[in-house]
Amino acid sequence: MSGRPPGTPTLHLKPGRDRPVRGRHPWIFSGAVARLEDTPAPGDLAQVRASNDEPLGWAYVNDRSQIVGRMLSWEPDAQPDEAWWRARLRAAIGLRLALPDSAPRSPDSACRLVNAESDGLPGLVIDRYGSFLVLQALTAGIERRKSDLAAWAAELWAEANGRPVSGVYERSDVEVRAKEGLTETTGILWGEEPPDLLWIREPLVPAPSIGAVAPADGSSDGSYKSYSSYESYESQESQETNRTNRTHRTYETPPAVMLPVDVKGGHKTGAYLDQADNRRRVARYAAGRRVLNVFSYTGGFGLHAAAAGAAALTQVDSSGPALGLAAEALARNAPGFGPAELVEADAFQQLRRWRDAGRDFDMVILDPPKFVMSSGQLAKAARAYKDINLLALKLLAPGGILATFSCSGLVTPEFFQQILYGAAQDAGRDLAILERLGQGADHPVRLSFPEGAYLKGVLGRLA
Ligand code: SAH
Repeated sequence: MSGRPPGTPTLHLKPGRDRPVRGRHPWIFSGAVARLEDTPAPGDLAQVRASNDEPLGWAYVNDRSQIVGRMLSWEPDAQPDEAWWRARLRAAIGLRLALPDSAPRSPDSACRLVNAESDGLPGLVIDRYGSFLVLQALTAGIERRKSDLAAWAAELWAEANGRPVSGVYERSDVEVRAKEGLTETTGILWGEEPPDLLWIREPLVPAPSIGAVAPADGSSDGSYKSYSSYESYESQESQETNRTNRTHRTYETPPAVMLPVDVKGGHKTGAYLDQADNRRRVARYAAGRRVLNVFSYTGGFGLHAAAAGAAALTQVDSSGPALGLAAEALARNAPGFGPAELVEADAFQQLRRWRDAGRDFDMVILDPPKFVMSSGQLAKAARAYKDINLLALKLLAPGGILATFSCSGLVTPEFFQQILYGAAQDAGRDLAILERLGQGADHPVRLSFPEGAYLKGVLGRLA
């Protein structure tokens, strides 16, 4: 019967609960499940059937989780096997290599290779930092298969990218695993252990366009470059493109900043890769401005702002180790850059102190951590977003730029804009939106999985 070997578990849906599955939403909540047949263990594959017994596809299941099933395949006749997992990994890698961005191809850059549900691989995150991969297993279904997935990803990425992978490190130290009955864990999954610190190239300019390749030897020191090299790079690229009529060319590595990344102990898998595009975009406004980078982590936005010609830089974070790396990064990338002020403090308190002291800035970047974990926290989180944005608006000099973000998925872009409006009114400030920002293209969002969109930002100018 429809490719279901005897003894294979089956997940039977309740009447009327098959629509999301047919619409290719990957999650099956406990309330939609009529029964699980053949008592699957957490992470087992199960065939998914509608209430009329029609087979709809395959999921991995975990009856300890609110999300009992995560759909893998909508082909009832083909139970996902090794070839299926490899094909999905290959597709995710192919998407990154097709992006008009040099980061996936450049030997010492970083990008997300697998974005879980949005790449048809629920519960699996793989980020690439230079020659290392970092894997997060968020569910029992991935936990069970993580050793194989690490080896396959290393093999397939090396093959597609033409460079060996040194190792795959696991960073499954995330609270969300508790919902799957899993504890937190980290360690080497495959190959070598990553060094304590990796230096990752983040280009200052958008990618070389179609067909461009980074030098295989990783040449160019990637050190601090001013806007003059930014311009010469751009013109060189467009000349080449015109002359060769978009044939394949090898371009010089774009000017870049080098970001320090601790993949074994840093936040997330080591860096906030979802903000990589925005660090570049926001920095385009930084020339000549006194920049305040709040919730700076290791100072990525600040490095880009410095490279773009910021007049001064102040960075605030509550994490001492993150600011330690921020100091190292400034020394390496921008030794000629004037004094940067690094402040270890609670951002809310620090901004309030500066407001009371009458201090001002020409540009404020706000990239707070996720304030909303569940819908019950939404009202409280909205107040926190309003508070911090109100303080930032108060610190901005006339004509100042605010780049403000929310990575809480439950805060929609519309709601975020409303919160900003409230903050601006209370601050007595008038802000015009110049750009709306989101997560980078290596964090794609499937139409069938809108939950995958979580990062939003607004870049505005004060009247
Ligand atoms: N903008 C950064 C990422 C910021 S992530 C980048 O591009 O890399 C959020 C940061 O906020 C973390 O570094 C965390 O240490 C810091 N943080 C969390 N709560 C804070 C608080 N109350 N005050 C100051 N920093 C805080």
